[in-house]
Amino acid sequence: MCSAGGGDFDLEIEQLELERYKCNECGNKFDAMGEKVVCPSCMSENVVKI
Ligand SMILES: [Zn+2]
Repeated sequence: MCSAGGGDFDLEIEQLELERYKCNECGNKFDAMGEKVVCPSCMSENVVKI
């Protein structure tokens, strides 16, 4: 299989880079992404990446 050299592949799909967070307020663990992450349980911004 020699497929080097490009082609017409449509690779526009971006993978969602979900990261694991933990809320320091209620201890909830959740997956989120983006710069401003809030806890989906208590809406606190006091979350840490784990
Ligand atoms: Zn919380």
